Amino acid sequence: MAEEMMNEDRIRDRLVGHGESLFRAPPEFVRFTQNDAADRLLNDLSGHPHAFVLASIMDRQIKAERAWLIPYRFMEKLGDFSMGTLVRQSQSDIQRLMSEPDPLHRFVEIMSACFFKGIRRIADQYESDAYRIWQGKPSSATVVYRFLEFDGVGPKIATMAANLLTRGFKIEFADHFSIDISADVHVRRVFGRLGLTPPEATPDQLIFRARSLHPEFPGLIDFPTWEIGRNWCKARKPEYNKCYMKDLCPSANEGEANKVP
Ligand code: SF4
Repeated sequence: MAEEMMNEDRIRDRLVGHGESLFRAPPEFVRFTQNDAADRLLNDLSGHPHAFVLASIMDRQIKAERAWLIPYRFMEKLGDFSMGTLVRQSQSDIQRLMSEPDPLHRFVEIMSACFFKGIRRIADQYESDAYRIWQGKPSSATVVYRFLEFDGVGPKIATMAANLLTRGFKIEFADHFSIDISADVHVRRVFGRLGLTPPEATPDQLIFRARSLHPEFPGLIDFPTWEIGRNWCKARKPEYNKCYMKDLCPSANEGEANKVP
């Protein structure tokens, strides 16, 4: 048991250490979609911070790449994506832009209402400058709460948005206590194979496990775990020999990895 705990501590320390080096790396262009122009719009936090916020709101019940393309599709149709242009659109304009000629979202009616209300909230609460949501080194809880105030945004998207802001765009927060991991399939598989959670762990179990491992910034573990999952710890045929967790991972030499979904 004591040895198991020690190995778990080593796993945690290595994940946190790798997460910290990724966190300290200079800001990079963040890839959200396969479309360069759409990604440029989403990366333009100083000129179009509302694109990032509105795309986050759309990230629900469809593939993330499709959701994050929506602001750019609006820009193509409207000619620009300024708040001045967006606030002139009525709710029915937004619904039409989202549904014709092809629907931009699986749930056009609900999501076009969320998009419209998101624009109104940015205009009314933040004087059309969404950058104010995270400006001035607020606490992580403040940023997460401000995202939760948008219609259609739950804890998962709110913490993901805060994590992207601090990790990808290097926006400064006063603390990182309220930034959780995104409990996706990569995290579940890697946590399971590393023996941190049972293979069938629920999203809540994954989130609280990450909190117990690194309470001051649980979401820091998200990046290295996701990277391990995407690069080496694949659902089938994990590439143990390339993975930097190999010497600590209980699944690496036991042939157990394929049993974890
Ligand atoms: S050593 Fe293998 S099973 Fe363990 S985390 Fe890395 S790729 Fe996954």
